[in-house]
Amino acid sequence: MKAVVYEGPRDVVVKDVPDAGIERPTDALIRITTTNICGSDLHMYEGRTDFETGRWFGHENLGEVIEVGAGVDKLKVGDWVVVPFNVACGHCKNCERGLTNYCLTAQPEPAWAGAAYGFADMGPWAGGQAELLRVPWADFNCLRLGEDAEERANDYVMLADIFPTGYHATEMAGVKPGDQTVIYGAGPVGLMAALSATIRGASKVMVVDRHPDRLALAESIGAIAIDDSAVDPVEAVLEQTMGLGADNGCECVGYQAHEPDGEEEANLTMNRLVGSVRFTGTIGCVGVFVPQDPGAADDLAKQGKLAFDFGMFWFKGQKLGSGQAPVKRYNRQLRDLIAAGKASPSFVVSHELPLDEAPDAYRHFDARDDGWTKVVLKP
Ligand code: NAD
Ligand code: ZN
Repeated sequence: MKAVVYEGPRDVVVKDVPDAGIERPTDALIRITTTNICGSDLHMYEGRTDFETGRWFGHENLGEVIEVGAGVDKLKVGDWVVVPFNVACGHCKNCERGLTNYCLTAQPEPAWAGAAYGFADMGPWAGGQAELLRVPWADFNCLRLGEDAEERANDYVMLADIFPTGYHATEMAGVKPGDQTVIYGAGPVGLMAALSATIRGASKVMVVDRHPDRLALAESIGAIAIDDSAVDPVEAVLEQTMGLGADNGCECVGYQAHEPDGEEEANLTMNRLVGSVRFTGTIGCVGVFVPQDPGAADDLAKQGKLAFDFGMFWFKGQKLGSGQAPVKRYNRQLRDLIAAGKASPSFVVSHELPLDEAPDAYRHFDARDDGWTKVVLKP
């Protein structure tokens, strides 16, 4: 089968690899028809992780079930499914509590929790930027779709990650009807957080970024765009909220935004959130901050060691949620909103391309070139 294989930093090629197949009775084999490039792939693509050459990415996957193992009960050949990026067993201590983002079985490293397809340090699972994907514990790890699965694949594929992840940011931030919410980052995840805040009934959603094309997408769903290359975003949020600050905020940027040196602490997104959110307000952080970054020995920010203004956070009595999103907690309900025509997350899709064009798409998306917001690959 063909896959988008990692050969080294900023170097992926499309080439033949051994076919994925059923390895255990609880597996299913999926023929991938839609698979996305995600901001999270860039952590590995840019060489900031120890992702092995010869493996391939792809954790936002949708397709058709073409084979099931003898131990698969519910899923049938011919079902169309979207696959949550978290690989989860469904029966460990964490999965039983709904914390499928921290599965203890799918992660082989005993001191860690959490696994994903095509990811550094997230278990041995192959990615879906390929023609076929093996899904373990398939009854648990596939979400079945309706008859419109193929026709609306670009909406449903967002259920694998960014729509539930954006929703999780707003859930951790506690967005309620009438709230004023600020979101840092208008990448695909930030735009999904903005959509989710709107779905949850926020009265005002403010989105901070510096890319005009991405800010325009935020405006297209009714959010207020704040360009931090033109204005101080904290002041802009205070102006929008009668000087009080937003009720809650979401971090949808991650550590990669921060320059190695020279960037002032006040500019860090977490500190800007502390400044933008009101006293006793809540922050949900889904942007990725990893504890150790092999490519950044001298760069504390890129090791996730930020100069977080804990004093002001404490003084304001704020609360914080963080981590990987438990996709399964939300994706059924979000699927049904899509099916009912009440949410169309595909508004973020800028490019729909064959697998062969992935290397070029990675270059453009990594450079955040104008107009390259979300790439959907069609193997
Ligand atoms: P992205 O890199 O395309 O988007 C990030 C956006 O943040 C860009 O538009 C960039 O211009 C903007 N930005 C950079 N610095 C900024 C600043 N100081 N203030 C405001 N905006 C700033 O990536 P994405 O796909 O949207 O993903 C965003 C983050 O979410 C990444 O760290 C990704 O790994 C993470 N993520 C987390 C989960 C999870 O489960 N927690 C899931 C998916 C993605
Ligand atoms: Zn993703």
